[in-house]
Amino acid sequence: MSGDETAPRSGSDPVGSGRPASNPSRPPVALLSGAGISTDSGIPDYRGPNGVWRRDPGAEKLVTYHHYVNDPEIRRRAWRVRLTGPARHARPNAAHRAVVELADAGVPVRVITQNVDGLHQAAGMPDREVLELHGTARLFECVDCGARGPMADALARVEAGEEDPPCTLCAGILKSATVMFGQALDREVLGRAVAVAGASAVFVAVGTSLRVQPAASLARIAAEAGARLIIVNAEPTPCDALADEVIREPIGRALPALLAELAAPAPDGTASGGPAPTDRG
Ligand SMILES: [Zn+2]
Repeated sequence: MSGDETAPRSGSDPVGSGRPASNPSRPPVALLSGAGISTDSGIPDYRGPNGVWRRDPGAEKLVTYHHYVNDPEIRRRAWRVRLTGPARHARPNAAHRAVVELADAGVPVRVITQNVDGLHQAAGMPDREVLELHGTARLFECVDCGARGPMADALARVEAGEEDPPCTLCAGILKSATVMFGQALDREVLGRAVAVAGASAVFVAVGTSLRVQPAASLARIAAEAGARLIIVNAEPTPCDALADEVIREPIGRALPALLAELAAPAPDGTASGGPAPTDRG
C-alpha cells in the first residue's frame, strides 16, 4: 500500500478495492480507533496515558520534535527503533478486517484513527476513508522541504548503513510523517474528523481511552449530534456516561461481533441503526 499515499483523496477508487459503492440509505458509521485495536497485531500502546513513551522519558524524547531535530543521537536512536520495532512488520488483525467487512456490506464507513501504523489501510480500507489524526509511520517526511516517501525506502538506507539518512532533495532532516509531541495536529484532518463525527449515525470508539483530545471531543460531538455512541475499551472512559453501549470484552472478539450486527440489514430490508441498546457492558 505504500504507493497509495500520494494518490488523490477524491475521485475514483485509487486502490481498486472492487467494493460496490456504499448504500446511501444505510446510516453512516464513524469508527474512532486507538492503540487498543492494534495490540493484537503486536504493537504496544506507545502514546496513551500509560503508554511506553509516557512511562519512559528517554523513549519519549525519540518522538518529541524539539529533541529530534536538535539532537543527532536522538535521531540515530529513533531510526534504529523504526528499523527493529514491532510496527515495521505488523499485520492487520480481526478487528481491522471487521471494519473492512462492514464497508464491504455496503455501510458507509469512515475511520478516524489515533494510530500511525496504517493497519486499517493494510486490511483494505482505502486511504481516503481513513483520517489519521497523528499522521502515518508508513511515510517519511523532510522537516525542511516537506518531501515525503515510503518509510520502507528510508529504512532501506538505514539498513545499508546510513544512521541518520538525510533528505535526498535538500539534505534536510527526515522523520516519520507522524505528529510528534510538540507538533500541532493537521488542521485539515482535524476538520474532516469533526465533520465525520457530526454526520455519523453510529459512532464506535474502539481501543481508545478517550482521555486525550481530540478523541474525547469527537465522541462528544457525535453524541450531541444524535449519533448512537458505542464504546469498546478495556478500561472505563470519561465518555462512558454518554454512551448508548459500553463493551469491555477483548477487541479482537467484540468488534467483529458488533460490526457484524451493524452490517446486518434491518428487518425492513433497508437500513440498520445498529442493535438495540443492551446491558452487555
Ligand atoms: Zn528536504
